Amino acid sequence: MIEAPMIELKAASKSFGGTPAVDGVSLRIEAGAFCVLVGPSGCGKSTTLRMINAMIAPDAGAVEIGGRNVASLDAIALRRSIGYVIQSVGLFPHWTVAANIGAVPQLLGWDKSNIARRVEEISGALQIDPSLLPRYPRELSGGQQQRVGVARALAADPGIMLMDEPFAALDPVSRAALQNELRRLHAASGKTIVFVTHDMNEALRLASQIVVMNAGRIVQAGAPAAILLRPEGDFVRGFLGREDLPLRLLDLAAVVEKARPLSGAGGEIARPLSGAGGERIAATATLRQALALMLEHHCARLVIENERGEITGEIDIDDIVVGPDAK
Ligand code: ADP
Ligand code: MG
Repeated sequence: MIEAPMIELKAASKSFGGTPAVDGVSLRIEAGAFCVLVGPSGCGKSTTLRMINAMIAPDAGAVEIGGRNVASLDAIALRRSIGYVIQSVGLFPHWTVAANIGAVPQLLGWDKSNIARRVEEISGALQIDPSLLPRYPRELSGGQQQRVGVARALAADPGIMLMDEPFAALDPVSRAALQNELRRLHAASGKTIVFVTHDMNEALRLASQIVVMNAGRIVQAGAPAAILLRPEGDFVRGFLGREDLPLRLLDLAAVVEKARPLSGAGGEIARPLSGAGGERIAATATLRQALALMLEHHCARLVIENERGEITGEIDIDDIVVGPDAK
């Protein structure tokens, strides 16, 4: 894998027919960031994303990747080195799923056995059932097609992934599943992801860095907790919505971050847990899910288990209502 580069927009602007679509956007995206551009339809998110892979050239300003102006790079090589996923997937209808996933490695001239190995590896990582590989895109559900689209974008192991409302057309269950896969892949790979959405909840769930855009400009950029706790101006406040703000904060932290060792830690379990074990929750669940489970089962403490079903700690209602620390 190439080293994940840093992306920088320097006062980048682009107009269409005299109307600015992106208006002087300056933004640093650190290597390994999960940057989410969020804002209403027409605010310039897609245009910003297309400037990063040089599909659109800025009228003014510049876009740099790893310190080099993308305008000076070979556009085709650049695009092959960047994974790109869009809402409508864009799978080739007459190619099998396996051929679709292997498309970029094939363009890059990898040999057949390497392509086959990579297709197997990346479809495994995205939980695409091997029985789907010889099928055609139309035989797959929307959620499966979008998984294939993400697998295709990841196949050549690009250091940068650009994703333009990739999950917007999915049902809530497929969408949540793919969001989780993407979070996991990002954490495991250290890739730099720039992800576009008009959905603030999706942004809060995924981002390490949120960039709120309106009318071609950045109105606020920062960590999710900072945007939630200190929204700047009426637009950001309005876009966040106010009612369930505390609950959204709970979405930002995983149970594991608030986990405490089992009471009487130090190896032995000194005190039996409430009842014979108590309700269990996955370490990767969010605090909001933990709170929901406590309300459902009328308990104030949950036992935390890892993916192997082993108990790793516990979480108390008091750990939750204090909320994640604002950064
Ligand atoms: P978003 O992705 O946030 O919905 P876009 O970046 O697609 O917004 O578009 C920003 C503005 O630029 C919109 O007003 C849109 O109509 C306009 N625009 C985008 N692409 C083109 C184009 N190729 N030709 C003309 N206008 C465009
Ligand atoms: Mg768009």
